[in-house]
Amino acid sequence: MKLFFLLIATLPLLAQKKMNPEMTELWEPVPEVVNPGNLSGPPSDAIVLFDGTDLSQWINARNGEPAHWIINSDGSMTVKQKGGIETKEEFGSIQLHIEWRTPTEVKGNGQGRGNSGVFFQKVYEVQVLDSYNNRTYSNGQAASIYKQSIPMVNASRPPGVWQSYDIIFNEPIYDRKGNRIKKGTLTVFHNGVLVQNNVEIQGTTEYIGSPKLRNAKTPKRLFLQDHGNPVSYRNIWLRKL
Ligand code: MG
Repeated sequence: MKLFFLLIATLPLLAQKKMNPEMTELWEPVPEVVNPGNLSGPPSDAIVLFDGTDLSQWINARNGEPAHWIINSDGSMTVKQKGGIETKEEFGSIQLHIEWRTPTEVKGNGQGRGNSGVFFQKVYEVQVLDSYNNRTYSNGQAASIYKQSIPMVNASRPPGVWQSYDIIFNEPIYDRKGNRIKKGTLTVFHNGVLVQNNVEIQGTTEYIGSPKLRNAKTPKRLFLQDHGNPVSYRNIWLRKL
């Protein structure tokens, strides 16, 4: 009997003994080699949407004509206050890097101060706003998923100072009949600080009312909002996931 219990107790050990370290090593697939670039530049596999020279990757979202925003000599571009711009290309799930700056001269209050926005697939907004000493509703401040998710902290820099978003967007999944079978998610780093951690997107960004399912016909373009404030952008790149 004693021997029996001894045997039972040592069985897992015996099983372990048959294993070796190599049995839990995975050698395939081999991750592609990517040059991460320097701290301020895009990695080698990124699609650069704006490097300061031209707006060739963008169109006027109102009429499909060439993008009309102002290109500045410092390698940035600024909202022209005549409608937003969107990418020519459509994108599914992406990692996005974008830098933005609200006007140095502080004008307006709440939603009227340095408002713009980064819209994924034209309908899911991560808010751009001067939220430095500028109270507004929490689910509408900078780095909120507008009207859906409050950022965990307010990592805003002062007006006139460049800020960054690094965002992981996983698009929602639909079946053939158009039913959403998996919600999309957003993870947002604001100036390197995690502020949205794998948050489920409820639906389209709505100023009034509840989020809706996106219209399947809406092109999946990245859209930058003109909210009537001269907000600037630079160093925009993404990686398809
Ligand atoms: Mg906005």
